[in-house]
Amino acid sequence: NGLSLGREAATTCAYCGVGCGVRMQPQGEGFSASGDPRHPANSGRLCVKGSALGETLDLQGRLLRPEIHGQPVSWPTALDAVATQLQAIIAEHGPQAVAFYGSGQLLTEDYYVANKLMKGFIGSGNMDTNSRLCMASAVVSYKRAFGADVVPGNYQDLELADTVVLVGSNTAWAHPVLYQRLVQAKKSRPAMRVVVIDPRQTATCDIADLHLSLQPGSDAALFCGALHAMAERGRLDQDFLLQHTEGAESTLAAAAHWTLARTARFCGLSEEQLLAFYQLLADSPSWVTLYSMGINQSSSGVDKCQAIINLHLATGTLGRPGCGPFSITGQPNAMGGREVGGLANQLAAHMAFGAEEVDRVSRFWESDNVTTQPGLNAVDLFAAIAEGSVKAVWIMGTNPLVSLPDADRVRHGLSRCPLVIVSDIMRDTDTSRVAHIRLPALGWGEKNGTVTNSERCISRQRRFLAPPGEARADWWILSQVAQRLGFGKAFAYQHPAEIFREHAALSGFENQGTRAFDISGLATLSNAQWDELAPCQWPINSQHPQGCARLFSDGRFFHADAKARLLPIVPRLAVNQPTVNYPLVMNSGRIRDQWHTMTRSGKSPRLMQHISEPFCQYHPADVSGVVAGDLLRVASSHGWLLLRARPDSLQPRGSVFVPMHWNSLFSQQARVGALIEAHTDPLSGQPESKQMPVNVRRW
Ligand code: SF4
Repeated sequence: NGLSLGREAATTCAYCGVGCGVRMQPQGEGFSASGDPRHPANSGRLCVKGSALGETLDLQGRLLRPEIHGQPVSWPTALDAVATQLQAIIAEHGPQAVAFYGSGQLLTEDYYVANKLMKGFIGSGNMDTNSRLCMASAVVSYKRAFGADVVPGNYQDLELADTVVLVGSNTAWAHPVLYQRLVQAKKSRPAMRVVVIDPRQTATCDIADLHLSLQPGSDAALFCGALHAMAERGRLDQDFLLQHTEGAESTLAAAAHWTLARTARFCGLSEEQLLAFYQLLADSPSWVTLYSMGINQSSSGVDKCQAIINLHLATGTLGRPGCGPFSITGQPNAMGGREVGGLANQLAAHMAFGAEEVDRVSRFWESDNVTTQPGLNAVDLFAAIAEGSVKAVWIMGTNPLVSLPDADRVRHGLSRCPLVIVSDIMRDTDTSRVAHIRLPALGWGEKNGTVTNSERCISRQRRFLAPPGEARADWWILSQVAQRLGFGKAFAYQHPAEIFREHAALSGFENQGTRAFDISGLATLSNAQWDELAPCQWPINSQHPQGCARLFSDGRFFHADAKARLLPIVPRLAVNQPTVNYPLVMNSGRIRDQWHTMTRSGKSPRLMQHISEPFCQYHPADVSGVVAGDLLRVASSHGWLLLRARPDSLQPRGSVFVPMHWNSLFSQQARVGALIEAHTDPLSGQPESKQMPVNVRRW
């Protein structure tokens, strides 16, 4: 195990976007995890992954020294090599030839320094993150609709709602503590209704009053149909529409095409099912729509999110208790990454690349080299690496050779890239195998900083383990490289609290209440206050000194005219549809007890017991000559996987489900990204990871 600092710590879970508070207590040689009763996200609850955190702290497989070409080197040698080689590529090819690729596993302080270095000093927009695969579509739709990237409500709204609509989300497995809260709320208030919209009958359906097993990818039509139905039933909030929104007329006109019959046909549902859904909404004074990857990971993800938001705006169901659209992130700090500007189309602190914003950030950072252009998003970035226009990439805390679509092309591209730097806690991952320089980062429990969960709640991740070997914090590594690149003064950080204060100050810098993300109220925290920081929801500023649990209660949004936007939607299905050769649609997703590419959760024997092998779940009538437990070859036009057969009569006909987690260390031929073609949403750049035509045969 990592070396204990010998004390109990209140920290935040390493895994999903629920962001549960965890208490780690020394126990024997290691630590045991329990839910923090004082944390508002979970009030003492934990799911199985969170409660097994103590089993994942061993040093087996850790990267404990910097390495160049597989040989251990000292930190000065490694840092000099990173800086010298980056500098040489920038000098010869310009700043657009280098890129950083981050992760929702990074702490906000790490993320801030990476983004500042790339966009503020190297002068390239090429800092993107694996959050592009997670919630980029939700971000674009919030900005279009509300004028800012904000989740309006909070977790309590789920408990207060008359109806909760869960769409594209297996909440029971992917966000289990939120699901536990829903189960409890429904028990206490039996009149509460839950609707699950998902092609699959997942564990989440256990609490569903209505399950709509719609045609994969048809969600936008369903919400357009619901909007039309609410209009027909006189359920629109005309006052709200008139006073607080723009675009209602054209949006309602577009939605009017989605008659009951047409919507039923498009979505593959019966008219009776649709009527039941519409009536439930019409009868519910309050409802929340919770959505996740089933909505976002689509070539029309932004439109799907907007269709959900249109419905809430038109019915006035947001800005009050128990109401609102609610996208939930997959990662512990996806939201924090958005806050610092970790997406390539953001500059910093929710600012983009307008002349005024660039000028403001330049003055704040005291840099005349701030980029004026967005960089390449994840899929385009790795395509540019494969094509050779990006010649250096620094990958931090993520495993794109497993998680990105077209993963074999990503591998091929990285293997020919002149400079691949990987900061990770594990020595051997699919991605680190192609790295020229490996930098040992601190892991969960060793690093110290903040994260933001899906309800805008900033929490501390606190360390309770000493740094193992020569591992160092990401912010320190980045700052050391920045100093070697000649940017010393701007990166002279000695403590993560200094970085947090700067980040908080930037969020409020010349902000006249026009930007939603404003935590300037935290800009003067002392190191000790930062260390003790209790969970708080942004904005946190002079207007909201204690934070803000629910936005838009006053009907004022962040567009210049303070009005929200409804936008007409033209629903469309996935780009790739089944063919004669590839007749089944593969849906990829999470299982209950694993996390992302398993580099942490795969260490826990308890978690491995749940499902120990990669599998393909299919309807028995869709695959002949195969029995449970056989090995299957699942192939798309892009690649193939070797998976265990798992027939299930509840799996919808014509589709299969494959987990997203397995990496090459656990199973040679199970990286789901290798199957998926890299189609992306044109507005968000988020790939369509949930739909790929495949064929399935006995191996
Ligand atoms: Fe961790 Fe998410 Fe489980 Fe909470 S629900 S304990 S944040 S994995």
